[in-house]
Amino acid sequence: MSRRAEILAEMGLAPVWRLRNRPSPPPAPPIGWLPLKAAVSGCTKCALHETRTQTVFGVGDENADWMLIGEAPGAEEDRLGDPFVGQAGRLLDNMLAAIGLSRQKNVYIANVLKCRPPGNRNPTPEEVEQCSPHLLQQIELVKPKLILAMGRFAAQTLLKTDASISSLRGRVHRYAGVPLIVTYHPAYLLRTLEDKAKAWEDLVFARSTIQAPFAEKGS
Ligand code: URA
Repeated sequence: MSRRAEILAEMGLAPVWRLRNRPSPPPAPPIGWLPLKAAVSGCTKCALHETRTQTVFGVGDENADWMLIGEAPGAEEDRLGDPFVGQAGRLLDNMLAAIGLSRQKNVYIANVLKCRPPGNRNPTPEEVEQCSPHLLQQIELVKPKLILAMGRFAAQTLLKTDASISSLRGRVHRYAGVPLIVTYHPAYLLRTLEDKAKAWEDLVFARSTIQAPFAEKGS
């Protein structure tokens, strides 16, 4: 028994109860865009910094109502430094344009991870844990009215579930206090053309959610 425990026992204050599980970390303190961008570009919290060409922070209107979140940068994104710049990104841009949205004007796009996993492997839980504060701070700064989680990985990670995309679509979830809608990843849509119509339904559903009278910009 430690000296402290002995003293507490003598005082009749034993046993000392302890929490078995670590409490969740406190929310990250607020931070501005410039310090956040600097923190991300210099981040060495996980091993992905050793293999990246550069970090891929995010792109778009920093006050957008819509925030789109994908998985992690691929080879093109790692080379160019912006999210969704490959073929999947072009499909995404075309779909957004069809409802009057664009990354140049009224949408912010980011990924769960800011660095490319080598060989485009799935991100590990440790990488997600280390990188999540960056994403939370981006959400805090953008204050979107709606998050669109694109693909199984983003949806399952943000919602902490292993439910399928099809069971998560068509409902309004929440992440960090913001309404969140799940849709297919544009790279999946390139391979599965028949699901493009469903992704279109998701966009229309997201638009009607954002236009609902109760939709408010985050505080
Ligand atoms: N896939 C993603 O999830 N994000 C990107 O930025 C590119 C491809």
